[in-house]
Formats: sequence, structure tokens, C-alpha cells
Amino acid sequence: MAKWVYMFTEGNATMRNLLGGKGANLAEMTNLGLPVPQGFTITTEACTQYYEDGRKINDEIMAQIMEAIVKMEEVTGKKFGDNENPLLVSVRSGARASMPGMMDTILNLGLNEEVVEVVAKKTGNERWARDCYRRFIQMYSDVVMEVGKKYFEELIDKMKAERGVTQDVDLTADDLKELANQFKAEYKEKIGADFPDDPKEQLMGAIKAVFRSWDNPRANVYRRDNDIPYSWGTAVNVQEMAFGNWSDESGTGVAFTRDPATGEKKLMGEFLMNAQGEDVVAGVRTPQPIAELQAVMPEVYDQFVGVCNKLETHYRDMQDMEFTIQDRKLFMLQTRNGKRTAQAALKIACDLVDEGMRTEEEAVAMIDPRNLDTLLHPQFDTAALKAATPIGKGLGASPGAACGKVVFTADDAVEWAAKGEKVVLVRLETSPEDITGMKSAQGILTVRGGMTSHAAVVARGMGTCCVSGCGDIAMDEENKKFTLAGKEFHEGDAISIDGTTGNIYDGIIPTVDATIAGEFGRIMDWADKFRTMKVRTNADTPADAKKARELGAEGIGLCRTEHMFFEGNRIDAFREMICSETIEEREAALAKILPEQQGDFEKLYEALEGNPVTIRFLDPPLHEFVPTEEEDIKKLADAQGKTVEEIKTIIDSLHEFNPMMGHRGCRLAVTYPEIAKMQTSAVIRAAINVQKAHPDWNVKPEIMIPLVGDIKELKYVKKFVVETADAEIAAAGSNLEYEVGTMIEIPRAALTADDIAKEADFFCFGTNDLTQMTYGFSRDDAGKFLDAYYDAKIFENDPFAKLDQTGVGKLMETAIKLGRPVNPKLHIGICGEHGGDPSSVEFCNKIGLDYVSCSPFRVPIARLAAAQAAI
Ligand code: PEP
Ligand code: MG
Repeated sequence: MAKWVYMFTEGNATMRNLLGGKGANLAEMTNLGLPVPQGFTITTEACTQYYEDGRKINDEIMAQIMEAIVKMEEVTGKKFGDNENPLLVSVRSGARASMPGMMDTILNLGLNEEVVEVVAKKTGNERWARDCYRRFIQMYSDVVMEVGKKYFEELIDKMKAERGVTQDVDLTADDLKELANQFKAEYKEKIGADFPDDPKEQLMGAIKAVFRSWDNPRANVYRRDNDIPYSWGTAVNVQEMAFGNWSDESGTGVAFTRDPATGEKKLMGEFLMNAQGEDVVAGVRTPQPIAELQAVMPEVYDQFVGVCNKLETHYRDMQDMEFTIQDRKLFMLQTRNGKRTAQAALKIACDLVDEGMRTEEEAVAMIDPRNLDTLLHPQFDTAALKAATPIGKGLGASPGAACGKVVFTADDAVEWAAKGEKVVLVRLETSPEDITGMKSAQGILTVRGGMTSHAAVVARGMGTCCVSGCGDIAMDEENKKFTLAGKEFHEGDAISIDGTTGNIYDGIIPTVDATIAGEFGRIMDWADKFRTMKVRTNADTPADAKKARELGAEGIGLCRTEHMFFEGNRIDAFREMICSETIEEREAALAKILPEQQGDFEKLYEALEGNPVTIRFLDPPLHEFVPTEEEDIKKLADAQGKTVEEIKTIIDSLHEFNPMMGHRGCRLAVTYPEIAKMQTSAVIRAAINVQKAHPDWNVKPEIMIPLVGDIKELKYVKKFVVETADAEIAAAGSNLEYEVGTMIEIPRAALTADDIAKEADFFCFGTNDLTQMTYGFSRDDAGKFLDAYYDAKIFENDPFAKLDQTGVGKLMETAIKLGRPVNPKLHIGICGEHGGDPSSVEFCNKIGLDYVSCSPFRVPIARLAAAQAAI
């Protein structure tokens, strides 16, 4: 019989896949002899089984849960649902990787009208008992039955107003009793049934809610963003309650062993006296810094510091812990490797190496490559920042610079961002429903909440700039406005926020590009030491090439030459070329383009300082380039000495039903060899010039022919490329060497790679087109139906972002297997979008590519991912 349930005493930290992160660490802390309220974990496999059984908990799992309850009763000496000595529990989710999109916690489960009377009397602490019960009804209604939180919060606010108090803790036992009754009435109205009294029914409801939350839309979005497979499932932890709301000598808090924003080695955290966990995380009451616990309860503080040190040394990583103090007694409720900003991740990894706790390899493996993205984005211009005066200050909860237009709801953030607006989401506080909006925003600003509030934790996880807890803001969410420093801000007004200092500024502060230095540089140096695969960049302009070089690119893997025409009025000559009707007209246009191309190529070679540069010949989906505006059409007509009508007829004739599969790639060179000849001349002349200027560099152009599907296409185009190149080289009296290779981006090319390798010096996988043509999904239109695919669980990821290793990957492996034996000198890379995606980079390393090529800002990500793949 399968084992679905483990007592904390039966598990350990290595059982993370089965017990989830929280469960495995609760077991580990139990083994370490730390004060952990005891309980059990229902495995992630039980969650998967629940879904397999049609969202039901089967009899076997149910029986094991009941057995575990009995064991818990034995350990604690209390009884579930008992009127004499009742056992109260928390029920918490816990997947392998922590997931803020899921249901997190239900506390005080096991209470009902009778039990609450008993505990009130027995403990002599009536206020506490009533507080627990109202909290339980509230949480159960919200997370299990999905009655919105707001109804209960409104009732609390009303009660506080009636009693003339401002804090929850000022409500009396009678007030709380009355609130519980109001909550139950609210529940009945919304659900149409009485609030459940039977603790077993409550427990099963809560467990099912955790399982169900694995599949809620927020969790699905979070999983997609963080590469977490749906098949993992979540575990459920059932644990005896420790009560932070027991008295004024009780409390609850969260702490990190190092600063999660900067990485600095110091105990950081917050606590609230006379409170339960959700009060801290929800950001409803602003908690006290952890250091103040020393003055409040010195002996508990010292014990806690001891536990922190023990845990950090044990896990050899920064820990994020939850604790509760009940009547001056410490209980540990959770520990995990803490989420951190990219900056903090780098500092912590380097410090752990310096402290002798981790090796360089381990330090490299600790950094999530995707997080580096935030460090590569612009920072505020120091001079502009110095000159600006902050209008307010909150907590620097997640570093970075953000400026944009103010929006007040997550939905607005999504909507405005979709229109191309940069927005800063300003909220009283955030909650898990806001995740998509937070993702769309440049930055997040909240009025309430500390360093561990939802906004702060989630923003850090996403690498989005966040300033939290700016209490000076007078917020009017309903009317979409707020006041700060005497000024009223409305939707659409510009603000800037600094996630490092917590400063808030009126208007936009200019930003500058980031650089790799300090700890970032150290980690990247280590990564370069360990990786075996090269990292190149996709760069079309000299400026991009220079940036990529600074970020560590070792070559250009793809220069899309058609993109060189986006600048200034270069597009005019390009349009003249594609709208030519005769060779003469085309050659006249090409003659204008040649010197521009040559100049650009020279600059690319200069920027790359002798490193390889792959130049791909024109591959324009023509519809992206023909003029559509009347004014542009007129300009083109004048240049060509034609009428507007004639040009319009040519444009009409260029119309294609399916441009992505139309007259592009090598097909253009087959129809108009003069284009490829001109490009060859430009490449070779540029290379000869740069080689002459830098005799110590090895300038060896790599000419890449796109969209080849048949060896004969490559042969045909290669013939006049070689003729032109050789003639240029001979005319210059040079001994320049060059290569001619091809993209592998059509399935037929992959399947006939043994033929193609006979003519190609190199292969470069164009996985954008290869994905498009393998799935038959249009690159331009897939976005319209992919959401439905995610909802239906057909796809977990966008195959255009994360390589489909099973299908597209198989074609790549086939091409390598067929190509290499035919041409042992063949070098092979990838230049589709996937070249900068960490899991795809790992796959490329596995199948033996020589390099990956990605956009300049993803170069460091690819360097790190390549190192992790090699370690
Ligand atoms: C590709 O298809 O993967 C590729 C890199 O080329 P493009 O995106 O320009 O079609
Ligand atoms: Mg392509």
C-alpha cells in the first residue's frame, strides 16, 4: 500500500519532492531537535492522486489521514473535536518550490461553538478563544469556500467604528464573539448552508482546498513563469497550533538570516505581539523590526538567534523562517532557503564562498539565471537622482528603478501595459489576486506592509522594483487617486520609485544602463570558468554588438541584416529594392545599400575585436517592409519615377497570404541573386578592411543562408556567394578566409542534415522558425490561442519561449547526428529566442552545441545557465 502521509518524525530535508519544501523542512527541524509543533504531511503524490481520482480524496488516503490524526492526538495528549482537551491545527500548503499563488494557510482549525466555550473556560482566556474562532471562520470562508475576504473585513471595520477603537487588539471578548456570529451569518448568506461544526469535515474541506489551489489561475501563471511543472502537485501540512494571539506575551514573526534585499549578513525580520501569522504577512498591521524583540523578551530573542545560526549553518544558505511565541515560549513553524533579490543572491553566494561554506561551483549553481535580468535593466541616472527631491519614502522592498504612470488596480496595470504604457501599480496593499498586474508593472508602491508583506515578497521573487509601506500616502483607491506631500496624484500621472532606498519621486527620473561589476562580475567569472559552451549574441547594430561584448558575448551568432534598415531613412532604399521591377532598378537600389551595409559590417567586426561574426543574408517577411502610409508610398513612387498607382499595384502583387512561409529567406536569393551578391561584397570588403586595420585579429566572416530546406537551394545560392567572395578577395589581393553555413530552421533541413552538411561550414538552429514549422503554429498568431492551451493543460509553456525538447529538440538532435559525421569540422549553434532561456540552454549543452546565441541582455543569463548545465 502506498504511503500517502508522513509524521514530521518520519521525514527529512531530502524528501522535498514527496513532502514539499515546507513539510521536508519541518521534518528536518524536528530531527535537529528544534521546537516544532508536531504534525504530519500529506504527500505531493496524494495531490496528484486527488486529480487522477477526479478531484476526490480516495479512501486509502483518507484512512491514512485519520491514522495520522490519532498519532497526533497521542503525541499531544489532546483530541480532535474534543470538548475537554481539543486539538487545534493549522493546515498549510507546501509545494516543492514555494509558490505565492497558492492557498497558504488556515489556522485554528478544529474550533466550533462548543469547543470555543470549553477552551475559553479552561484557559481562562476568553478573549483569545473568541479571537481564534472569528479568525478561523474568516480564513475558512475565504480560502476554503472562497467567500471574499472583504465582506469580513468590512464587518471588522464596522465593529471597530462602533466601539470607537482603531486596532483589532482593542476589541473585547464580547465584541469578538459578536463578530463570529456575524461572520457565520455572512457565511450562511453567501454559501446557503451553516458553517461546518464537525472538525473532521473542516479538516477535509481544508485539505481539499489546498489540493484545489494547485490548479487555481494564479498558481498556473506563477508556475509558467517559474518553470514549475504541473505534475509536481502540492503537499499539505497539518500541524498543532501554537498561539501567537494567546496574550501580550505572545506573538508571531518572520525573519531572514541575511537581508533578502541586499544580501547583507544580519538578522532581518519583523514580529507582531499578540497576533497570528497572517497579520504579519497581510501587511494589515505594521510590525516591529526583529531587533526590538531583544528588549521585549531577551531570553526568547537569544534562543531565536541560536536557532537562526543553527539553521543557516545546517542548510548552508540564507534562511527565511516563521516563528510563533506563545506565552514566552518559542515555536518554529517554517524554514526555507529565502527568496532574495538578484543583487542579494549574488552577494550571498560570494559571501558563502568567502565564509568557507560553499564552493565556487555551488555558488554558481545557487543563482537563478532568470533573476539576473533585473540587474541588467536600467538604473536611475546618479546625477539626475541626486538632483531630484523625494516626495515620500517607504521601505526599499525590492531594488531597481521604476518610472511610469500611476495605476490603481491590477487589471488596469495589465490593460495599460498591453497598450505599451509603462505603469507603476499603487495599492493600499497587494494580495495574491494582483500577481498578473504586478508582473505587468514596472514597479509596485504600497501604503501598508513591511519587508515581508505580500507585495514585497512577490516583487522580490519577480525581480520587480517595489517600495512598500509608505504610510504617508493618503489613499483613495475607489476614486483612483492618492495624496502625498500635499499633491494629489491621479491615474496616469508619472512617478518614479527607487526600490533600493524606498524613495518616491514626482515625475520621471532618467535611467542609465547597468554594468557587470563587483559580485556580479565574480560570479560571471566563475561561470565562465566552468562552462564549456560558448555564448554569442544576436546583434544587428554596432551599438547592440558593443553592449553584448560588455556583457560577455564571445561572438555574434546572428546579425539579421534586414534589421539594419530600420534606422533613419535607410528603409527608403530597401523599399526601392523590394519594389523594383527590373534588375536595373534593383541594382540601382542595391548600389545605394551596399556602402551602408559595408559600413555597418565594419563596425560590427570592430566591436567584436576578431571574435566570430555570423551575418545572415536577407530574410525579410516582405509584409513587414512594404510601405503602408500614403506619404511613404508617394515618396517611393517619386524615387522610382513611378506613379502612386503603379507602386500600389506592385505592393498588391507582393501581398502574400502567409508571409512567414512566403517569399523570404534563401527564396529571395534564388529569385534575386543580385541581392545576395551585393551582401557578399559588403561582408567581404568590410572584413578585408578591418583585417587590414587589425592584423592581429582573426577576421573570418561567417555568411549564413536562411530558411534552407533542400541541399539544392543552398548549393544554388552558395555558388554565387563563393564566386563573388573569391572575386572580391582576389581583387583586393587578400588572403581572407570565410565560411558559408546555413540556418537549420525548416524540419526538412534537419531531416536531411547529412546532405546539407556536405555544403555547409556550420549549422545554426533557428528555433523560432523551426518551432513554427514543426508545430505548424504561426509565430505571429500563436499568442491568440496559447492561453486556451494553458487552460486546457495541453501546454504548460510557450514553445516559442521555452524549447519543445521532445519534438523540436528531437529534430535538432537528428540534425546533429546526421551532420557531424559528414563534416567533422561543422560547428553548430542556436540563435532562436531559446538561446537565452535557461532550461533550453541546458538542453543545448546536453545535445552538444558549440554555442548559444541570444539578445545582448540575455548574454549573462546564458553564460550562467551554460555553466550550471556543465556543473
Ligand atoms: C529563427 O527562426 O529562429 C531565427 C533566429 O530567425 P528569425 O527569427 O529571424 O526568423
Ligand atoms: Mg528564422
